[in-house]
Amino acid sequence: MECFITKAKDTRETRTALTPESAEKLIQLGLTLKAESGLGQKSGYADQSYQEKGVIVEQDDSGLSQADLVIGLEVPSNETISQLKSGSLFVGQLDPFYNLDLIEGFATSGINAISMEMIPRTTLAQKMDVLSSQMNLAGYFAVIKGAERLNKILPMMMTPAGTISPSRVFVIGVGVAGLQAIATAKRMGARVQAFDTRPVVEEQVKSLGAKFVKIDLGETGQTDQGYAKELTAEQIELQRQSMAKVCAQSDIVITTAKLFGRKAPTLLTKDMISRMNSGSVIVDLAAAGGGNVEGTVLNEEVVTENGVIILGNGSFEGEVPHHASQVYASNIAGLLEHFWDEESKTMNIDLEDEIMSGCLLTHEGSVIHPTFKELVAGN
Ligand code: NAD
Repeated sequence: MECFITKAKDTRETRTALTPESAEKLIQLGLTLKAESGLGQKSGYADQSYQEKGVIVEQDDSGLSQADLVIGLEVPSNETISQLKSGSLFVGQLDPFYNLDLIEGFATSGINAISMEMIPRTTLAQKMDVLSSQMNLAGYFAVIKGAERLNKILPMMMTPAGTISPSRVFVIGVGVAGLQAIATAKRMGARVQAFDTRPVVEEQVKSLGAKFVKIDLGETGQTDQGYAKELTAEQIELQRQSMAKVCAQSDIVITTAKLFGRKAPTLLTKDMISRMNSGSVIVDLAAAGGGNVEGTVLNEEVVTENGVIILGNGSFEGEVPHHASQVYASNIAGLLEHFWDEESKTMNIDLEDEIMSGCLLTHEGSVIHPTFKELVAGN
């Protein structure tokens, strides 16, 4: 089976879909790996390190059209799709809820497409879970970035020149990114508080040594995949009112609240921000999905009239591309190893398998994933 690894076309993308270490594992399975020169340049993996593991490094991406399997990281362009061979398999991040045309394009071109974001959140599939591997690093880096922009230090310091109080960090949304943000801020010595609409999270927050902010919103809950359910307009308003005071007292507010497949809820309004202290920092980790904060501008730093800094970086994981690529590539290798058929030396597209049926969007010319079949039809 011939496999081509695409190099990101977006000049802002710093990560790579495959590292030399994971390439070695795939070659051991029996895959022939080809890649475009400079594949891992921005994330610190030189062409030579791939070649040493057996990857054939080519000068351009013309190998795309012969590949049976194509591995990517960024959402592919229509131009890339037009180069792919009918019957081939594409594995990568497709941001599918926002790219219905792309899914249709895969189907009409006869390409089988796997969306890594749709891998079910089960214990068995954990090693393939790109949302977790990337958001974990994003949560870490959000704290680093927030601390860097803050005009204070995070830990308490008792010095001959007096005592410096610890900074206060408030984390809103305690999924994978939020948990890592709490752990990182605690390690850096901050006083940390957190809130999530899923009540099960309280224990996890406490076990990290942070304080859970209690807000009674009535019925909230989560889906069977563990995702938060959407709140009513009244519940959101109540949440904002209850959080306003905590935000006003915080030095760094990190928002990570997302709703899978839907726009992120607006949790910090201009009014709430106007009550925060000058120099405080808001890090909006939901920026790419519409943002949790009124005034966030994607990939830009905004300073409000009252001096609050809002950071809306769309990819904090991209700030640590070496490790983000390492874990992404490991997720890809985990998926391929799981579905590898030793006898035929190909990927086994088992439609009965829970993981495969969760992430395979198109197959043999049709959109087969039930959610997207409906969405594409109504598009
Ligand atoms: P996410 O990125 O979809 O959302 C981040 C957090 O925002 C979630 O905790 C969510 O509850 C919270 N949120 C949504 N609306 C909110 C609001 N109005 N106010 C405050 N918080 C709000 O979540 P995620 O990190 O992808 O995690 C989703 C679920 O998947 C979690 O239950 C997590 O434990 C679970 N998970 C399971 C596995 C596994 O078993 N393999 C792996 C990773 C995550």
